[in-house]
Order: sequence, then structure tokens, then C-alpha cells
Amino acid sequence: MICLHYGEVQSRKSQVCNLNVNHETDNGIRFNDVEIIWARNSKEFLFSNSVLIHGADPVLVDPSASFTYISSLAEAHYVKTVLNTHFHGDHRSLNQLFKGAYFASHAADADAISEFKHYAKMVVDDDTAFYFDWIKQVFAKYHIVDCPVSIKLKDGDVLDTGSEKINIIHIPGHTPGHIALYFEKADLLYTSDIDLTPYGPWYANPCSDIEQFKQSIRKIKLISCKHYVTSHAERVYDHETFLNKLDRYYLAFETRRFKIIEILKTSPMEMHELCSHGIVYKRAALTDPLKAFFQFKMVAKHLKQLMDEGVVGQDGAKYICV
Ligand SMILES: [Zn+2]
Repeated sequence: MICLHYGEVQSRKSQVCNLNVNHETDNGIRFNDVEIIWARNSKEFLFSNSVLIHGADPVLVDPSASFTYISSLAEAHYVKTVLNTHFHGDHRSLNQLFKGAYFASHAADADAISEFKHYAKMVVDDDTAFYFDWIKQVFAKYHIVDCPVSIKLKDGDVLDTGSEKINIIHIPGHTPGHIALYFEKADLLYTSDIDLTPYGPWYANPCSDIEQFKQSIRKIKLISCKHYVTSHAERVYDHETFLNKLDRYYLAFETRRFKIIEILKTSPMEMHELCSHGIVYKRAALTDPLKAFFQFKMVAKHLKQLMDEGVVGQDGAKYICV
């Protein structure tokens, strides 16, 4: 158990709603002391839902939702601990507002949040200058800065805010240190970027791993609770709906793999030709160079698996179905 008692919380804490019931708020929805903040009026390009856990020592998870509300929390010195569910910029775009706060993450993602040079190693291959340039521009434009992580978490750790316990659940695959959070009193699971989007899982970073991602989804599936929230939808799922969506989300791995095999059955082809087909995204979406790049990286991971299994081989630069 990690108790987050750093001393007196600032007196302006009372500015924040403290009703101990489930209800909608101006910025989202609240379950006991767990307040979900929807990424609703964000002007930032990089955003995700945030979670504010009230109590004697409040914690803010992934400060990337409403700029207006989150900056008011920072100005009030309400939050002492900022917890990032992983190192991606869209989950820490407002970290920089919380000067003097303690930063927490899973140990495997801590260095990437603490220093850009470690972040770069997690997201860039030798051949991805285009993506690296894009990242540097985005980080500069949206003021995403290094934040030294002093609380390095692992699976099974529990953070105690005084009135709510936050269980850390390690779900690697999307990133090595990706975590879900289970809030005991609220009986709510926040699954971060196991986000149930119709597109399916995202694993385009060099440090992303398909098999770890699949295992993490199977792990999450075993957690039975009342409410489920993800990082990129304004929605609270009940148990049955969550499981249905999770099954469909999981199926995307097989669908993508199947598409690659079926395309290669038509004729041997080089990577650029294979990736001109809609495998991860719809074909029309691939006019966006970023989406085309992400698809390329994810297809490459599937191809490596298929070659390791002997399902796909190579003839020069062309891939063939064996
Ligand atoms: Zn992410």
C-alpha cells in the first residue's frame, strides 16, 4: 500500500465538489470520490479523458481533458499527485500545469515521461525521421514537457488517497508500462488505452507488443466490476456491454492478420503495396500520412509474427504466402 500523505492539502480544496454520491458534473460524471473528466472542451490536439480521485490526498490521472477545469485544479493546488497511465503525449499534455506535484507511473514507462531522450527510444526506429519530426513539433506546440517520475509503480500496488484505494493493474502491449486502474469504493475500472475504439488496438510504437497486448486484454476481461471507463470515449459501460465491446476489440488482431494473409494469397507483394490496402484503417483514411505510417508499423509486427510461424515467407523484397 502506498499512502499519499504529503502534509496539509491547500485550503482551496473546498472549491471542488465533494458530494459523496454518483452524479453527473459540469465536466463529466462522479462515482463516490472518483470523478471522470471527459475530454470535452479541450482545444488541444492531444487529449484523453482524465480521472480525479478526491480524498485527503487527491490524485489526478492523465491530465489531458478539459483545459479550463484542469488548469483550475492546478491553480488551486488541489492535486498533489499526477498519475500517468502510460507515457503517450495525449495522456500527459497538461502535466506541465502541475508544478511541484509528485508524478507517478508504472516503472517501465517512467523514464519516457521523465526525459525526452528515453521517450524517443520508445517511439522511433531508425527509419522514422518523419514521425520523429512530427512528434517534436507536437510536443513543442502543446508544451508537453519532461516530468520527473518519483513514484514508480508495479502491478498490484495500491495508492490510498484517504477515502479511495487505487489498484494498479499492469496491462503492457500498447506501451511497456501501460496500466489500468481499479477504484475499490467506486467499483470502477479505468482501462486507459484498451479503449474499445471501433478501429481496434493500437500498437505502432517499436516498444508495443501484440502478444502482450492480447494477454492484457484477457487479463482485463477477468475483472468483474460495476462500471468501466476508457480514455477516448464519453461513456460509462456496464459489465455486459464492456465484455461485448472487449471481445470485438480483441477480434481486431485476428481480423488484421487474416486480411494480410488473404491479400498476400492474391499475389506476392512488397510492403508498400501490401500497406496500400485497408488493413488497420479503411483505405480512404490512408491519405492521412500519420495513419498510413501507423498502419505500416502495425502490419510489420503482424508480418514478423507470420514469418516466425512459417505462414508467410519472403522472395527478395516481396512477401509471399507459404
Ligand atoms: Zn496511448
